[in-house]
Amino acid sequence: MAVSTLPASNLDEAAVADFHETLLQSKRIVAVLGAGLSAASGLPTYRGVGSGGLWRNYDATQIATPAAFRHDPGLVWQYTSHLRRLALGAAPNPAHYALAELARRVPGFMALTQNVDNLSPRAEHPAAQLNQLHGNLFDMRCSDEANCGYIERGNFKDPLTPALAASPEEQDATVSNNESVKRPKATAWLLEGIARKNRQILGHDYQEAAPLRTDQAALKSGDDESTESRLAVVPEPSNIPPADLPQCPKCSTNLLRPNIVWFGEALPADIVAEVDNMFNDSQPIDLCIVIGTSGSVWPAAGFADLARKKGARIAVVNLDVSDVKNMRPGTDWVFAGDAAVVVPELLKPVMGSLSG
Ligand SMILES: [Zn+2]
Repeated sequence: MAVSTLPASNLDEAAVADFHETLLQSKRIVAVLGAGLSAASGLPTYRGVGSGGLWRNYDATQIATPAAFRHDPGLVWQYTSHLRRLALGAAPNPAHYALAELARRVPGFMALTQNVDNLSPRAEHPAAQLNQLHGNLFDMRCSDEANCGYIERGNFKDPLTPALAASPEEQDATVSNNESVKRPKATAWLLEGIARKNRQILGHDYQEAAPLRTDQAALKSGDDESTESRLAVVPEPSNIPPADLPQCPKCSTNLLRPNIVWFGEALPADIVAEVDNMFNDSQPIDLCIVIGTSGSVWPAAGFADLARKKGARIAVVNLDVSDVKNMRPGTDWVFAGDAAVVVPELLKPVMGSLSG
């Protein structure tokens, strides 16, 4: 998939020079990585709001949950398989590579990523300097964690079982890679229903997008059955029997589940402990770089605050900086632009130009 060609905003030269100076003096650096980093590799921001948060018109916050897995594990595995294929079809962008290089050159650098797409590991970001807060789409674990505890890492098989092969519709969408991939096919009426639902969940944070012409056109394909199913906001059952889903090879009793943090789940205790230790030790943090998330949203906002308490200056790199708050003028930086362009520019003094 092509790297985003969105141009960097005209970065303020004085701000960049000031950032470079701080970067070169920094021994301990924290980066908080969000969906915008992977959006620059062409991946949709499923955890975000708006059209990108939907799969088959369903709200991801309804499907990526423990309740959904208990109710219909086949549907959750179909959704996860779709995300795995998108991630496999994407490539790390220059920001992923620049951050991996920073990790190799600055031992005191730690990246905390909210992304589950495995793009940072694929850019050879050193594992000891990458904390995947929400897990990884290519790791699986037994759904009976307490009694079995089986875990499997780095399984890139696709499909995981024959029942989880890509649907013809999904294959078409992947090949065409046009606007319809990112937008639900639905009527204005249905989109309003979804928007209403999202507003209930997300409150005033939800911002709706106007339906596109292609949304209307997609309904006129003469496919009555699928038109009917598109009108349902409550997900259709997958009709995949549990026997056709990934099975735990250790206990031979339970299903495997994706080793990612679903909506409504807490972060794993070991991850929380690791992050806590970093922010609670006696060492100062010099610099905190928040990339691809606004820095006003949890958990990124919390990490930035913790880093600030340990003396860090904060830099936010995001396409949308309209809701960046609580920044200290003259101390913090806000760089508006595509992470794939801005991050290599900001990290240049530490590594030189990676391309040249
Ligand atoms: Zn098991």
